[in-house]
Amino acid sequence: MTLDLIEIKPKLNIKKVVLISIILILIISLISTSIFFIIFNYNKKLSLVESKILDKNKAVHELYFSDNVKQEKLLNEITHIYSSDYKRVFLTFDDGPSKSVTIPILDILRQNNIKATFFVLGSNAERYPEIVKRAYQEGHYIANHGFTHVYGNIYSSAQAVIDEYNRTETAIKNAIGDQTYNSRLFRFPGGSIGGKYNDIKTEAINLLNQNNIAHLDWNALTADAAGLSNVDDMINYAESTIGNKNSVVILMHDTGTKKETYELLPELIKRLQEKGYAFENIYDLLK
Ligand SMILES: [Zn+2]
Repeated sequence: MTLDLIEIKPKLNIKKVVLISIILILIISLISTSIFFIIFNYNKKLSLVESKILDKNKAVHELYFSDNVKQEKLLNEITHIYSSDYKRVFLTFDDGPSKSVTIPILDILRQNNIKATFFVLGSNAERYPEIVKRAYQEGHYIANHGFTHVYGNIYSSAQAVIDEYNRTETAIKNAIGDQTYNSRLFRFPGGSIGGKYNDIKTEAINLLNQNNIAHLDWNALTADAAGLSNVDDMINYAESTIGNKNSVVILMHDTGTKKETYELLPELIKRLQEKGYAFENIYDLLK
């Protein structure tokens, strides 16, 4: 009798254990599935927001650059950029991106709802792709300033200019995560005219034109790369170079050491607004 009881007891226990285990497994599965779906949906939401912004700019870019007509329009508009029947200003930033200067500039531009043009260096775009991506997503135009900025390299031949252009375009595409992006806009380090490498620059301009790639210099500057370091002096210098021009392309720099560039930006924007300038970027040229 005692033996029987002993035999029955474990049988009941095994059933209980199996039942409890099944219930536990079901509960754990239910909880893990719920957690998985919560995380999955959260990420999905985030990436949807991100891709929405990207798609918006992508659509703009495809519209502008998928056909030769638009490419020719860019070349034509850039050729005539200094003439306009209303007051407009293009804020342009060269040599970035950098963490210490480009990020505060992007913050100021966002606060003022201004879209600018960034002529990025390929080497810096590779170093800080997330900043290039942010600038692009916030509606700024990402253009090309070559890869090395070393005159001896980029101006060793006209083909070297094209090679640096292509290498930088690849860095931009990778940074913004869109392999179809083409800026089709180059700024020559040191400007497109004059200096020791003038002949090579002229040859490179022809090569760029043959490939429907525009190039742009500037007609005003803060002289942030040419000796001035006092913010007030730089704003005054910018104003003197702007003068009475109707269409202004201002050269500034967003390398890591040029903190004056973002320090002067709010005041410069204020003065330009007071003078009645509309802030535009390259996308506006193609509307
Ligand atoms: Zn430069």
